[in-house]
Amino acid sequence: MKVFVTGGAGYIGSVCTELLCDAGHEVTVYDNLSQGHRAAVDLRARFILGRPEQPGDIAAAMAAARPEAVLHFAGDILVGESMREPGKYFRNNVGCGLEFLDAAWRCGVRKFVFSSTAATYGLPEQTPIPEDAPQRPVNPYGEAKLMFERMLQWYHRLHGLEFVAFRYFNAAGATDRFGEAHRTETHLIPNVLKVPLGQRPHVEVFGTDYPTPDGTCVRDYIHVVDLARAHILALQPGCCGFYNLGNGNGYSVREVIRACERVTGRAIPAVEKPRRPGDPPRLVASADKARRELGWQPRFPGLEAIVASAWAWHQKHPQGYGD
Ligand code: UDP
Repeated sequence: MKVFVTGGAGYIGSVCTELLCDAGHEVTVYDNLSQGHRAAVDLRARFILGRPEQPGDIAAAMAAARPEAVLHFAGDILVGESMREPGKYFRNNVGCGLEFLDAAWRCGVRKFVFSSTAATYGLPEQTPIPEDAPQRPVNPYGEAKLMFERMLQWYHRLHGLEFVAFRYFNAAGATDRFGEAHRTETHLIPNVLKVPLGQRPHVEVFGTDYPTPDGTCVRDYIHVVDLARAHILALQPGCCGFYNLGNGNGYSVREVIRACERVTGRAIPAVEKPRRPGDPPRLVASADKARRELGWQPRFPGLEAIVASAWAWHQKHPQGYGD
């Protein structure tokens, strides 16, 4: 299949591109490299350096590639930043996202697969969270993703564009080749691993007074390869709708730090800090729908296997992609 991957030089996009190429798909990556890395793009894929701010750039790139499916990973991803700069999230994730969606429909794309997020649920009333739980985001990041989900529904209803929107819980881990290397790292697991790498003296724990068993936030960590595999399953004709992707297991920040200590064999000092604005206390997925309807089955459901793959990658790439 001809697949157009936006944000394919980023963390999840790079792994998905690798798996798509392994499966024999013909992949075009469109990325402006504002967050992504050229070295993270599989050499089997065609690369387009995007200039999404230039009118017509997205539509022209897509028209040239003539894809049958679009996997839309591009976008800003930081909850904390979205609380300080909401406009950036609405501009890039909604405004620019619409350019991709509209271009896809106009090019006759058959399937649009979107990276949505557990942050669309806000403060969930029940866990594990099912897909039909109320969506009341508590930060502009989640709000912008929810706005895009609604646009997808209208394009489906009015233009017949088939879509799958995956609500990711916390992506982590790596393949042998591609891993998590944000230029400004805010995510928990790579930040914890910077301590045994000798790049930081300690990890900061944001909030120890949450209503959780040990007072720190609980998240559902999912291996990036399992996320990517779900995207490939989503290319099957006929599947359409919203799917959570998580393992259904919640781990607190302190439990993640302990798992990293076990995997690396090093002590990891932690310093308690105030809460990070916009963080819900507990986000754990019910991914039964993806299992049932897509036939998805995570291969790496345990936290230690996820952390071990991240640790192997960071040891090989202590400076990330070096840019
Ligand atoms: N966190 C932390 N220290 C860090 C990075 C993150 O305590 O250096 C916490 C963060 O406040 C949240 C959890 O770890 O409760 C997961 O954060 P992350 O940014 O990895 O993912 P998010 O759930 O925000 O998408």
